[in-house]
Amino acid sequence: MPKPKVIISACLLGEICRYDGKTKSVSRVIEAFKDYEIIPFCPEAPLFGTPRERINVVEVEGQNRIITDETEIDVTLRLENEIKSFINLHQSADKIVLKSKSPSCGLGTTPILNSKKEITHYGNGIAADIFEKKYNKIPIEDENRYL
Ligand code: SF4
Repeated sequence: MPKPKVIISACLLGEICRYDGKTKSVSRVIEAFKDYEIIPFCPEAPLFGTPRERINVVEVEGQNRIITDETEIDVTLRLENEIKSFINLHQSADKIVLKSKSPSCGLGTTPILNSKKEITHYGNGIAADIFEKKYNKIPIEDENRYL
C-alpha cells in the first residue's frame, strides 16, 4: 500500500534553506511523519539562494505583495510561479505542515506590513494562501501543533 504523502516546509526538516543561512529543524515534526512519504517544500531558496535578502509581505493598495526588505523589489510573481510549478508536480497530498511566520509559508502568523514597514496585522504567507485554495480538502497546519 502506498504511504500517505505530506508536504513539509523544508526548513522544518533540517534543510539549510532559510534566508539567514540557517535551518529550523523540528524533530517532533520529522518524528510525527516517519511513516509518510515526505515532500519537502521551499519556494524561496531555489529562486533567491541561501542566504538571501529578507522578504516581507506588504499590503499595497489592498493586496498582499512580497517585497525584498532592503532593495524593495516586488518578487510576488516569481514566487507565485515557483509555487505553482511545485503544485503541478505534486497534485495531491494528504497533509501539509508549514513553517509559521514566514512570508512564504506562514499560516495566519505572518506579519503583514504597511508601506512604512509597520506590522498592521498577521496573515498568510504567499504559499500558504495558494495552498489553501489548491489543497482545500486536506489539513494544513504549522509546526506549532507539534511543539
Ligand atoms: Fe523555505 Fe518556507 Fe522555510 Fe522559508 S519558511 S526557508 S520559504 S520552507
